[in-house]
Parts: sequence; C-alpha cells; structure tokens
Amino acid sequence: MTTDPLGERSLGLAELAGRISRCTACPRLVEWREEAARARPRSFAEDEYWARPLPGFGDPDARLVIVGLAPAAHGGNRTGRMFTGDRSGDFLFAGLYSHGFANQPTSISLGDGLELSSAYVTAPVRCAPPANRPLPEERDRCMPFLEEELRLLPLARVYLALGAYAFDAIGRLRGVRGRMRGRFSHGAEIKLEASEDDELDTVLCTYHPSQRNVFTGLLTSEMFSDVLRRARELVGPES
Ligand code: SF4
Repeated sequence: MTTDPLGERSLGLAELAGRISRCTACPRLVEWREEAARARPRSFAEDEYWARPLPGFGDPDARLVIVGLAPAAHGGNRTGRMFTGDRSGDFLFAGLYSHGFANQPTSISLGDGLELSSAYVTAPVRCAPPANRPLPEERDRCMPFLEEELRLLPLARVYLALGAYAFDAIGRLRGVRGRMRGRFSHGAEIKLEASEDDELDTVLCTYHPSQRNVFTGLLTSEMFSDVLRRARELVGPES
C-alpha cells in the first residue's frame, strides 16, 4: 500500500523531473547531448533522440535507490529514461526483475510498461558526458537535483552504488542519513554512521554494469545477483 495516498511525493517528483529536463547549466554537456543526437549510429538513424537531461524514475515508496553515473549518449540520451535502450540497462533490469524490483526484465523505451517496485533509479549527473566522464564542476552543479530527489524519497534506506563514481557521489550527499566511511569495492556493504534513528542507511557496492565490465567478466550476472539478493534482504520482502 502506498505511503503517499494523496500523491504529493509523486507530484513533487514530476515537478522536479520537469525542471531537470529543462536544465541547460552545463554548456559542454548541452553541446554533447545534442551532438550525440546529430551523430547517431546507423542502428538508431530513425530514432528521435531525447537529447535532454534525465530525471530519475521508479517507485515513490522506494526503499532501494540505485545510483549510476550519467546517461549513455545512445541509451538514456536517446530514449529519455535512465538505463533504457542500452546494454547496461539490459543487465541492470534483468537483475532487478529477478529480485522483484521490476515488473519486466527489459527496458527498451518510454512507454514499454516498465514499473519499479520499492526501487528508484537515478544518477548524480543527468546529461550524457563525453567518454562517460563528467567534469567535477559539472557533477557539483548537478548534484542538487539528486539531493532534492532523495528528499522526495523519504523511505529510502539502501543505496546501491553502480561503480566507484556513484559511491563517491553518495558520500557527497548531504541528504543521506549518516556519514559514510569506507572504500568502494564490489560487494562492499557500508553502514552509515550517526543516523538519527536506529535504522541505519546502508550503501551496497557493485561494479557498474557497463558493457565493458560485463563483456570482460569483471561483473557477472551471478555477482550482480548476489548484491541484489542482499539489497532485497535489507529492503524486505516484495509487497
Ligand atoms: S549535467 Fe545537470 S546541471 Fe549540467 S546541464 Fe545537465 S542537468 Fe543541468
């Protein structure tokens, strides 16, 4: 049952999504996200690119928040939804489906019917960056969106860092309940210190499900499933 019966948080998230999608604060990234749409590969020649910033998406009652890096130039930047229409997304959502966080194992396009349950997918940087490397000042400019998003997800207790960049970003968040000590390593589980109540927030770590990490075997489905199994234990059973 939803804890947001009047839909106020959903409305807040929708309003925030609108503001994010209109942001033009980083000239280099504005240029890059639009250039990706102009220089599209042949396989996407007929696609209409989103070519704007991406808000997060998922369940307003999420207890698990999955934090990536930034949209892919021909994935989310094309389709208009994070981890949608690329290999990373294929890997991520297959895992989320296996552990009851998604209603389907694929994420192909807006309007494909994908719904998340007790999970929310987001990132510290909302525009596709060249070589997947945002500049520090671009990240810092964008982080307030993530702070604001998390304030609208008050049930969030478990943060899943997809890679070291996400882990670092979570550590910079003021809204996370408690201070984070520890280093990124695949499978690491870090309890945040000094939370205001007994229910400590937890950060779980996994290698980013990038095509390269999966292709080289650095991250296998079994490894990812183990991390998601732990996330499910922490979050509680499917409702
Ligand atoms: S990266 Fe963030 S702050 Fe920069 S233009 Fe995109 S949405 Fe705006």
